[in-house]
Amino acid sequence: MNLTDLQALEERYLMRTYRRAPVEFVRGEGASLWDSDGNEYLDFLAGISVCSVGHCNPEVVEAVSEQAGRLMHTSNLFYTEPMVRLAERLAESSLGGRVFFSNSGTEANECAIKIARKQAHRRGVEAPEIVSFERDFHGRTYGALAATPALAANPALGPMLPGFRSVPLNDASALHAAIGENTAAVLIEPIQGEAGIYPLSDEALLAARQACDEVGALLIFDEIQTGVGRTGSLWAYEQTPVRPDLLTSAKALGGGMPIGACVTTPAAGEVLEPGDHGSTFAAGPLACVAALAVLEIVDDPALLRGVRERGEQLREGLLALEGVREVRGRGLMLGVGLEQGLDAAALGARLLERGLIVNVPEPGTLRLLPPLTVDSDQIERATAMIGEALLSYDAG
Ligand code: PLP
Repeated sequence: MNLTDLQALEERYLMRTYRRAPVEFVRGEGASLWDSDGNEYLDFLAGISVCSVGHCNPEVVEAVSEQAGRLMHTSNLFYTEPMVRLAERLAESSLGGRVFFSNSGTEANECAIKIARKQAHRRGVEAPEIVSFERDFHGRTYGALAATPALAANPALGPMLPGFRSVPLNDASALHAAIGENTAAVLIEPIQGEAGIYPLSDEALLAARQACDEVGALLIFDEIQTGVGRTGSLWAYEQTPVRPDLLTSAKALGGGMPIGACVTTPAAGEVLEPGDHGSTFAAGPLACVAALAVLEIVDDPALLRGVRERGEQLREGLLALEGVREVRGRGLMLGVGLEQGLDAAALGARLLERGLIVNVPEPGTLRLLPPLTVDSDQIERATAMIGEALLSYDAG
């Protein structure tokens, strides 16, 4: 089957929820992907921050292959060792409480929202509210969607879940004013990812923490994109002045296997009880052994130092390019703000043709999320390709 055949079948059978780039990938290794014609691409998107340990990382492949031949699924009605070992590893590496596993990021946030609402009811709040920042992205199931203001505004998908409100990014006083007795939680991304890589200011984070503490609300960090080493520490909150009560993880956690997690402090871990939440597939041994292998690789000071160093190399290289206005973000989660008049979508398409995969989250921004295992030669090559594409863009 060639690309034209795939596109014809897509047109007939797949729901029209995505605009796919015209390329079929058939193989991946490290930071490289190969298409069906044998062309190699440098992948600076990593499956939207999923393949952080590289495509087909040998340790992940071995763990999954071995587990697949032994036991794939039992449900949460029984014990399996990978599930409890992974819960221990996640809790001990972060907030020290309990873990609920899911199959995706949006579901991890659903768990966090349930915990927040239930905890607020215990405080006597009848109509709990969740506060987020405008342009936050928390997922597409109805709870997470309600906390994703840009998408929740689509009337065709309404009515939305009540009890969600948002304030402008980094507006500490608006945030403070929005948090009151009814607030169940502040749910935020420490660095907005889908919006185009916009970090939260320390001031806004401190305001959120303080206001949550004043009313007894929970501070929830959605670390689905920022977590698992992406910003140069295992969790992004470690580089901020605050500590959340809950954090959610997914994407890179499974190294390509679908898994999400909601991790709590010891106190917040006591809120949900039997019957409050569940999932058939979640915590399955296949996904859990993959995540254990990923954490074994990423939770390593040398690797995390490398993320910070490669991130700086990439940032400096990009800032030296004609046409680049600014570079936002931390570690290997970077947004490249282009000079006015440059069309990021056209540039992204041109880069794909030349063999570099990037993402375009908004008209003036390229988003770069390479594997954390990327080397300095690959960073140099990607920077040079972006520079050449910008020059040829200028030439029309
Ligand atoms: N939260 C953040 C910050 C994300 O970036 C995403 C996905 O891009 C999600 C939640 C949703 O994750 P998923 O697509 O696995 O449901």
